Amino acid sequence: MILADIHTHTNYFHGKNTVQEMYNAAVDSNLQYYGFSEHTPLPEGFSCLLYQEGDMNIAFENYVNDVLLLKEKTADYNKENLCQIPEVLLGMELDFTPQYPDYMDTLIKKYPFDYVIGTIHFVGEQNIGLWNAEDASLEEKYAFFEEYYDYMIKLAAYGKTDIIAHPDFVKIHCIDSFHAWLKTKRADECLHETCKAVKKSGMVLEVSTGGLKKACEEIHPSPKILEIAASYAIPISFASDTHNINTVAYKFEELAHFARQFGYKEHTVFINRQPIQLAF
Ligand SMILES: [Zn+2]
Ligand SMILES: [Zn+2]
Repeated sequence: MILADIHTHTNYFHGKNTVQEMYNAAVDSNLQYYGFSEHTPLPEGFSCLLYQEGDMNIAFENYVNDVLLLKEKTADYNKENLCQIPEVLLGMELDFTPQYPDYMDTLIKKYPFDYVIGTIHFVGEQNIGLWNAEDASLEEKYAFFEEYYDYMIKLAAYGKTDIIAHPDFVKIHCIDSFHAWLKTKRADECLHETCKAVKKSGMVLEVSTGGLKKACEEIHPSPKILEIAASYAIPISFASDTHNINTVAYKFEELAHFARQFGYKEHTVFINRQPIQLAF
């Protein structure tokens, strides 16, 4: 059984529910750990239409304060009661913007995070979520997939995050082309290079049901990618990437079954930036 859901959102950015409401749903899901990983404010010049408008710096500060208060409250409760409720972890989903390393460094140091998820939503100036894949030729798509994994190698080299989020996010708008690309020799080389870099970085690869809720309708990452990651013994973390109370620990039985096929028996959580392995 999966014991932790550590990539989750709240209504501070574009989720639907409050920190407390999300946590209540986690209590009902019998988890041991519940990690909040809200999106981060973006450097000047970047914008994401998906994120809440207004000053994201203020929203993020309020988010951190809410989670830290809840963390304290639940830790006190667990000390006083035999009945254990999920331990709260403070994380963030940090947009990887290699053009602005100082910006990322400052955010990482600013708060007492249990873990930091590095996420690639932007390749150069292109926001993947808004990429119009239908208008791209197959060659253009393949080139974009390669560029995306080049970014992942850069994220691994940056080395200051603990987890790599949804490690094939680039497939969300073009699953058929992505599957075709995965069969190519170039994709094979590219994924091996990426996994070598991730292994060297010591980061953990996220395995998430977030993709099942998107147009691609597939777990992140695709089977072939997890198979290659497993061959390098790269550890994994589990997540729902939920944005509302109805998808906390979403389809976690299916997720556990998926990961076991590649020999995985443990998943990672982080407390105070230190990894802990949990059997599932
Ligand atoms: Zn994301
Ligand atoms: Zn997310």
